Amino acid sequence: MLEIKNVSKTYGKKQALTDISLTFTEGVYGLLGPNGAGKSTLMNIITDNLSADTGQVCWNGEEIKALKADYRKLLGYAPQQQGLYETFTGRHFLSYMGTLKGIATKDMAAEIDRVADYVNLTYKLECAIGAYSGGMKQRLLIAQAMMGDPRLIILDEPTAGLDPKERVRIREKIRELSEGRIIIVATHVVSDIQSIAREIIILKAGQVTARDTVAALCEQYGGEDLEAVYMHLFSQAASQSEACLTTDVEGKDTAACGGGCPGDEEAKDD
Ligand code: ADP
Ligand code: MG
Repeated sequence: MLEIKNVSKTYGKKQALTDISLTFTEGVYGLLGPNGAGKSTLMNIITDNLSADTGQVCWNGEEIKALKADYRKLLGYAPQQQGLYETFTGRHFLSYMGTLKGIATKDMAAEIDRVADYVNLTYKLECAIGAYSGGMKQRLLIAQAMMGDPRLIILDEPTAGLDPKERVRIREKIRELSEGRIIIVATHVVSDIQSIAREIIILKAGQVTARDTVAALCEQYGGEDLEAVYMHLFSQAASQSEACLTTDVEGKDTAACGGGCPGDEEAKDD
């Protein structure tokens, strides 16, 4: 069980997260919110790549900071940014990430083959990452997050840059992986998660505004699907994102809004 207890985070004067408390047990959770809502900040705190100003993250009752390497072993993380090693081959990158995770040398080749096959990249393993498309890089990130069979998998915007066929493929893989695991998928794309998440957590300006099943959210907000709920909750943000064809709303997201996000099927990395 993963517990987030009263977590807050500021960057200078910017309050990115305010008093977040959440509990996760087995299954897929969708962390949904527009760009700038604080999703990546929360994912970075859960994965211990960033420290909260206040509050705690606990795994089975123990603070993750005390678990150290034991926590790394049970965690798989695909960050939003593709900070990949362009000159590494896919195999070299997976081997490097596997070593960091503590996978034994004797098990490495089989583990690389397993995760590469899972994301349909076996044929690319000997190529330099610099020659991968954006979608291939995204799949490689997901592959490394799966190494070592982690109990907790954090995927931050996992379908950014993927074509529609690949998006569906990744979504089904996430669904398959969820048995016996906690998977948290942060996204601003409703269709990525509405059919696979047991619960949706809606983050707005650094606060949890709603948390429930898709059906319960639809009932509560009177929408026919999750997209309607999202539009209801973010009607102001939605009109802003239409405006951001010409205006840079978050100071960084102009390109992502070119097709009319949120819900833009072809949304690129932010
Ligand atoms: P999301 O992933 O939902 O798009 P983020 O967690 O990336 O949101 O950002 C939340 C807020 O914090 C945004 O206003 C963003 O501009 C700000 N922010 C994120 N990272 C930093 C940083 N390193 N320094 C300053 N501000 C940041
Ligand atoms: Mg983000």
